[in-house]
Amino acid sequence: MLHYSCDLCQRPIDPQLGIRHVVKISVFPAVETHDDEFTSCCEGACEDHLDDMQDLLERLEEQDLAAFLDDGTRSLRFDLCDACRQRFLRNPLGTKPNKSLTFSDN
Ligand SMILES: [Zn+2]
Repeated sequence: MLHYSCDLCQRPIDPQLGIRHVVKISVFPAVETHDDEFTSCCEGACEDHLDDMQDLLERLEEQDLAAFLDDGTRSLRFDLCDACRQRFLRNPLGTKPNKSLTFSDN
């Protein structure tokens, strides 16, 4: 039997006592794709593009290659107990409570 623990408070999540909640976060660059343009530009020219890409990849050092291929996309997954799920939903980005919302009279 699989045992899960909460990724926030590290407490084991007993399925008999509580529900395990899964949080999935996807981070990716919001690039607007224009499919029509892409397909038309690729007509007949695809192989040239691939050759260029191959040259580029060969010239890049392994480390540079990793950076080159890394477009910032991340997929994260967390298991949360019920208490942490509620905390997470109240403050998903972990920001500090913003007290400056109430203006002072200084
Ligand atoms: Zn927890």
